Amino acid sequence: MNDCSPTQTPEVDREALRLKYLAERDKRLRPEGQQQYLQAENEFADFYEGDPHLPVEPREAISGELEVAVLGGGFAGLIAAHRLQQAGITDFRIIELGGDFGGVWYWNRYPGIQIDSDAYCYLPLLEETGYMPKEKFSHGDECYEHAQRIGKHFGLYENALFHTLIRSLRWDGEINRWRISTNRGDEIAARFVVMCQGPYNRPKLPGIPGIADFDGHLMHTARWDFEYTGGDLHGGLDKLAGKRVAVIGTGSSGVQVIPHVARAAEHLTVFQRTPSYIFERDNHPTDPEWVKSLEPGWRAERQRNFHNAAFAFYNPGEPDLICDGWTEVARNLAAKLNAENGWAALADPAKFMELKEIEDYRSMERLRNRIAEIVTDPETAEILKPYYRNMCKRPVFNDDYLPTFNRDNVTLVDVSAAKGVERITEKGVVANGVEYEVDCIILASGFEITTSLDRQYDIEPFTGRDGKSLYEHWGKGFRTLHGMSAHGFPNIYFTGFIQGGVTAATTLMFEQQADHISYIIAQATARGVTVVEPTQEAEDEWIKTVRANAFDNSTFTSECTPGYYNSEGEPNGRSFLGDPFWGGFYVLEELLQTWRDTGDLAGLSLRE
Ligand code: NAP
Repeated sequence: MNDCSPTQTPEVDREALRLKYLAERDKRLRPEGQQQYLQAENEFADFYEGDPHLPVEPREAISGELEVAVLGGGFAGLIAAHRLQQAGITDFRIIELGGDFGGVWYWNRYPGIQIDSDAYCYLPLLEETGYMPKEKFSHGDECYEHAQRIGKHFGLYENALFHTLIRSLRWDGEINRWRISTNRGDEIAARFVVMCQGPYNRPKLPGIPGIADFDGHLMHTARWDFEYTGGDLHGGLDKLAGKRVAVIGTGSSGVQVIPHVARAAEHLTVFQRTPSYIFERDNHPTDPEWVKSLEPGWRAERQRNFHNAAFAFYNPGEPDLICDGWTEVARNLAAKLNAENGWAALADPAKFMELKEIEDYRSMERLRNRIAEIVTDPETAEILKPYYRNMCKRPVFNDDYLPTFNRDNVTLVDVSAAKGVERITEKGVVANGVEYEVDCIILASGFEITTSLDRQYDIEPFTGRDGKSLYEHWGKGFRTLHGMSAHGFPNIYFTGFIQGGVTAATTLMFEQQADHISYIIAQATARGVTVVEPTQEAEDEWIKTVRANAFDNSTFTSECTPGYYNSEGEPNGRSFLGDPFWGGFYVLEELLQTWRDTGDLAGLSLRE
């Protein structure tokens, strides 16, 4: 499985392409930036709070005290719970909006859903649960089942509160606990809170005029309605027969859904603002011989290799263990350096960036040429070609998507010139002055990832010591210690992309954070401490460290076509990676380990 060759890429005119990229960006930039999106609230609240998968069972409201509340039962929450258990903390509850564990894998069950990233790196707690993914890119049900497996294996179901949405979070200095209110009337007083809501928790809707007027069926990919479509996440949407369907959005979700809808519907109209860049999926079942050959530590090595490709670079001679579109640019560059004996060039960061940029342009050109080979109508092929750099948007892997546009029952509508769909009416979708009548509109419009934090968390109020709002504290940017805690907000810990290290396997980042958080909570408990809070000095010091290691990629992001990866082109938008410690994920790992080994809880103020 390690035999990974570079791809054959064509020569390019970089300068001409750069200008084309900028023109394509300008065409799509909208002055309202992220405000163009509608929140899933009021008449659209069901797009977030409604559960099409499991009925919400009535239950009594819960009140009382709890040691640790883990907010979110996706992989971040499951990992946090596992680490709390390991640290000897048992009085905790996972509180989760879904009807089961899984997070994004619980909610997103649209047809075609599959991981777009190496499953051996991504699916967590493999060795601990004795599980090996069936394929390199797992299907959505395997991910959901793995979340359930973790829940069962570690006995996490017992105390979990499902179908429960956090409404407000308030630190109460009188009792030194967090007061948690939920949509089920619960009033819980938790000593500690661990925020594990994940980055893709809350769907957002395109702010298209008239969206509320549509008389047909409107759904979001993250809340798929199989009652309406028939079938399941592997397809077979038999109830769409005879139906005219529109899909708005061609990101990771849209691309996976579109081939299945095309197969089932009478007619599918795809409204595309920006095309995704589509790599070959080239999925394969897990080779039992390869599994037998694995030595302990294989997974850590693989994750580090993935990290090197995505966030650093290979060491000379290091193989590409991941071998997919995520690593294509790095792999091709490494092959060139090998062939030309050119590794010395990497000593110069500017040279490295230039070499990488060349491979990036060539790889994107390869993908554009591939579209022209697969899609028979040249005009349609042209509309499907992405003109931006690798990693301006999330890479997508699919073998069925491009051929879908050769079908007679599929129409592609380019809405880039109008910066999106123009209007929705009672009967359908208006684009470029034409009304397309449809029975169903599927919104593949993504999530509140880089919109403001109050939109993403949807928790109000969210207040710490002295009633200070977290949204205010982070109003001008994140302020944390190690990306996990904040001054003025005792006993609460954050996971995800805030001010920590980033790596290619998101779940590895959750593990790093859970290790640290569970250590602090266990230490506090063992020392009889009830209030733990980073000092102002420690927070300031961490911000200084983050700044000192800052990596300025603003030119890259500002030249990208808009999307959530660059906060829709807003100059001061919040990055989807947060405000990372660019010193490096593994540097942070050592730093946190040393901090823990020292054992003095430096930078934390402790009160009994
Ligand atoms: P997304 O990447 O945010 O895509 C939203 C889509 O809606 C874009 O194509 C966007 O066009 C389009 N859109 C928004 N407003 C529009 C308007 N007014 N008119 C026309 N089109 C409009 O959302 P997503 O596809 O759900 O993916 C979100 C993230 O979730 C992914 O990047 C990935 O991290 C994760 N995800 C992962 C997987 C996987 O691993 N397999 C699958 C699904 C999702 P523009 O591009 O022009 O803005």
